[in-house]
Amino acid sequence: MSDYEVGYTLGVVIGSIVMGLLIGLIPYFMAKKRGRKNFGMISIVICILANFLGGVIISIPVCLIVIAVLLGTEGNNNKTTQTNYGNDINNGSNTNSFSQTTQTQVYCIYCGAAVNKNSMYCTSCGHKLP
Ligand SMILES: [Zn+2]
Repeated sequence: MSDYEVGYTLGVVIGSIVMGLLIGLIPYFMAKKRGRKNFGMISIVICILANFLGGVIISIPVCLIVIAVLLGTEGNNNKTTQTNYGNDINNGSNTNSFSQTTQTQVYCIYCGAAVNKNSMYCTSCGHKLP
């Protein structure tokens, strides 16, 4: 490898890093603004790699995809919060139905399983109920 080739390669590498860094700063600040600094750091690395592989032609679309992912996952987080809220409501109704079943069920003194109040034997362990 000649000095020219080394210099050229070095220039391409440094150029790619600088350009990738500049492009990656856009999603970085967007992510940082949303309190997702780790996502921003990853997006800078992705943009540098993309620039290194295919130049600005690749890294700019990649940068846009990263921003889209950032905004997309942000929406998913909101959906997850809503789903959790829905689960809480379901848990509440489960607790209600559980308290209703306790009225017709007793707990086996041997194994603790919930069995029907009218049954003579435990359905779980087979012991005779008092
Ligand atoms: Zn039992």
